Amino acid sequence: LPSEFQAALPVLSALNDHGYEAYFVGGAVRDALLHDRIHDVDIATSAYPAEVKSVFRRTVDTGIQHGTVTVLLDHDQYEVTTFRTESTYQDFRRPDHVTFVRSLKEDLKRRDFTVNALAMDQHGEITDLFAGLSDLQHHILRAVGKPEERFHEDALRMMRAVRFQSQLAFTLDPATEQAIAHHHGLLTKIAVERINMEFVKMMAAKDRRLGLKTFLDTQLFTACPGMDDQGAALATMLADKPQLLLQSGSVWLRVAAALTLPEKAVERFMRAWKTTNTERRQVSQLLPILKKITAHHLTDWDLYTAGADLLTVLVPVAEQMGLTTAALATRYQQLPLHQARDLAISGRTITEWFPQVQGPQIGALLHLATQAVVAGQVPNDAGAIRHFLEQHAEGVSL
Ligand code: ATP
Ligand code: MG
Repeated sequence: LPSEFQAALPVLSALNDHGYEAYFVGGAVRDALLHDRIHDVDIATSAYPAEVKSVFRRTVDTGIQHGTVTVLLDHDQYEVTTFRTESTYQDFRRPDHVTFVRSLKEDLKRRDFTVNALAMDQHGEITDLFAGLSDLQHHILRAVGKPEERFHEDALRMMRAVRFQSQLAFTLDPATEQAIAHHHGLLTKIAVERINMEFVKMMAAKDRRLGLKTFLDTQLFTACPGMDDQGAALATMLADKPQLLLQSGSVWLRVAAALTLPEKAVERFMRAWKTTNTERRQVSQLLPILKKITAHHLTDWDLYTAGADLLTVLVPVAEQMGLTTAALATRYQQLPLHQARDLAISGRTITEWFPQVQGPQIGALLHLATQAVVAGQVPNDAGAIRHFLEQHAEGVSL
C-alpha cells in the first residue's frame, strides 16, 4: 500500500471492526495504481453518516446530506462517504437527493469512468466490477455502463472526460466519445462555474492537447460560453508545445490569445466564463504584451510595467505558443529599474531641486525620469536625471 493509504488504514480498520465495509475509492486508487501522485484519499463505507460519526471521536459534517463526514485522525483528515446511488436525475445535473445504500456495487455503478470506479480494501485487494483495471492498463477512459445514459444523467461528466483525458493522457473509448458528440448540447444545462473548473484543469494539464482535441471534435466547445464561433481559433492551440503545466491565470491568457475577438469582447468572454477578477486583470494586462511579443515590438517599458509576477504568468504561455522568450527573463533582469523605489530620486528630491514644482507635476516628472531610465536613455543616477529633466521637462519651468 502507498504511504498515503497506510496512514489512512486506521479509518478503514475502525469501520471494519464495527462491522461495516470500508474502501479506498475514486481518484486516489486510480492514481496509486498508475504510480501517480495521490491527491486526497477518499473512503467509501456501508456505514450511514450517523454510524460513521459514532465510530470516530472527532468528525466534521462536511456534506452530510450527501453522506460525507470528515474524520479527523491525528494531523490528517479523511472524507468518508456512505455508499449511495443517485437514481433520480433531473435537468441533466447531478441530483440533490441521494439514497444511501449498503452495497458497494451500487456505489461503484454511479461513478463516471471505469478507472474511477475501483475500490481497494484494507489489504490492498481491488474490487473491479467494470474492468477498470484493464482500462487502466491500456490507458483507456471509458464511461461506466451505457455512456449515452450516463451523460444524459449528468452532463458535466462530458467535461470530466476531456479533463481526465488531458490529465491522464488516456485514449477515450470510441463509444464514450460518440456519446459526448451526441449529447454535447446538454452541457448548457450545467453551471458555468463547474464547466470552468473542468476546462481549466483540462487546459492546465501536461497533455492538454488530447482533451482539447476531443473538446473540439465532439463539439463540446459549442455548448460553452462565447465559444461556438471560435472552433478554428481554439484549434490553433493544438499546435502548441506540449509538456508544460500552466496556472489557471495562464490558461485564460492562452485562451484569450487564441480567440479572434476584439479587446472589449475578451472582457465579456471572460465574464461569461465566470472567471475571477484576478484572472481578468491578468489577461487585460498581459494580452497586449503577448501581442507585442508576437509582433517583435516588445519594449523595455512593457516589461517594466508588467512586473515580475505578471511575467511568470506570461512566459509559459509565450513559450507554449512557440514564441522565443528565453531572452525575456534575462532582458527583464537587466532592466535598470524593476519598481518605482529603485529610481535614484524620489518626489522629495524633485521638490528640493525645483521648489516651484507642485502637485501632479511632481508625479509627471518622476514618470518622465522613470521612462528615460528604463529605456536606457539616462543612467539611474541623481545628477544625470536632474540634467535630463532640465533639458526635457516640457511645460514645466524648472
Ligand atoms: P482528482 O484527482 O481530480 O481529485 P478524482 O477522480 O478524485 O480526481 P473527484 O472529482 O475528486 O475526482 O471525484 C472523486 C470520485 O467521485 C471520482 O473518481 C468518481 O468516482 C466520482 N465522481 C465525481 N464526480 C462524478 C460525477 N459527476 N459523476 C459520477 N461520478 C463522479
Ligand atoms: Mg478527488
